[in-house]
Amino acid sequence: MQVVRARSAGFCLGVSLALRRLDLELDRAGGERKAEKKPYHVFARQGRLITLGPIIHNPLVMQEYIERGVICEEDCRGVGPGDRVVIRAHGIPRDVEARLMASGATLIDATCPKVKKAQVSIGNEHAKGGFLLLFGEKDHPEVRGLLSYAGNRAMVFGDLRELADLPLEAGRMYFLAAQTTQDRGLFLQAGKYLRKRLGRTVSTLNTICDATRDRQQEVIDLAGKVQAMVVVGGLNSGNTRRLAEVARANGLVTIHVEQANDITPKLAAGTFAGIALVGLTAGASTPEKHIHAMQAYLESI
Ligand code: SF4
Repeated sequence: MQVVRARSAGFCLGVSLALRRLDLELDRAGGERKAEKKPYHVFARQGRLITLGPIIHNPLVMQEYIERGVICEEDCRGVGPGDRVVIRAHGIPRDVEARLMASGATLIDATCPKVKKAQVSIGNEHAKGGFLLLFGEKDHPEVRGLLSYAGNRAMVFGDLRELADLPLEAGRMYFLAAQTTQDRGLFLQAGKYLRKRLGRTVSTLNTICDATRDRQQEVIDLAGKVQAMVVVGGLNSGNTRRLAEVARANGLVTIHVEQANDITPKLAAGTFAGIALVGLTAGASTPEKHIHAMQAYLESI
């Protein structure tokens, strides 16, 4: 098959920066490089190197870091003095940050600058008395972090139907924001819906990241040219899943897998029969080597 690869496929700025921070911490801890096939079990001197939750949503990348000695903790209860804790690209809620500071651990903040900007902007609107309406996945770590900057004056909705179900009060000073990886078109529709429902324009924070928009737009552009789409990246990655949704919504037969090895002969036969030109894209947390391997595989079919 011929493959058309999206130019934007792969790591975004926030993911690159977060992984660079973690690599720097690994280097600081010293020890052998991964190339020598030895993990970094040298943390006894400096405390453990921990990420609070996966540093990015890509299980394969996370597994490589675990093999190098990084510990992935799901909550901050086990963190103590001497530990070094890297805050992931999605950021963390304010109360978790406060508990980490009180734990005696050293914090290394690898929150994406764009997520940080969204947190600060929400905090500023909240300080002015605003009530947040957040477009996002309510259980996503980034969303939990963003909500924490709005105190108890916040509600979250995952789609326009959920927005319509929210109990809004006419006199409240609402402001609208979105998880950085949400669909811009739906976000605009949410603003229009609120204007109609409340009879006034609701202040809106532009928190959707361009990296997400560019990746989604490229999929839309490719949809007119290719016959099918392959999306590579973490199945737990919101922005990657949305690339697959955008491809499907634009009429493409689409598969979303974490690596080329995940495409079974049955899946390949069912997806690529009669296909000569396939599009290839990847989420913002997908390493280049996985995209490259997928391209080589698709070209070999
Ligand atoms: S997608 Fe955007 S907001 Fe999210 S980590 Fe990447 S650069 Fe940051």
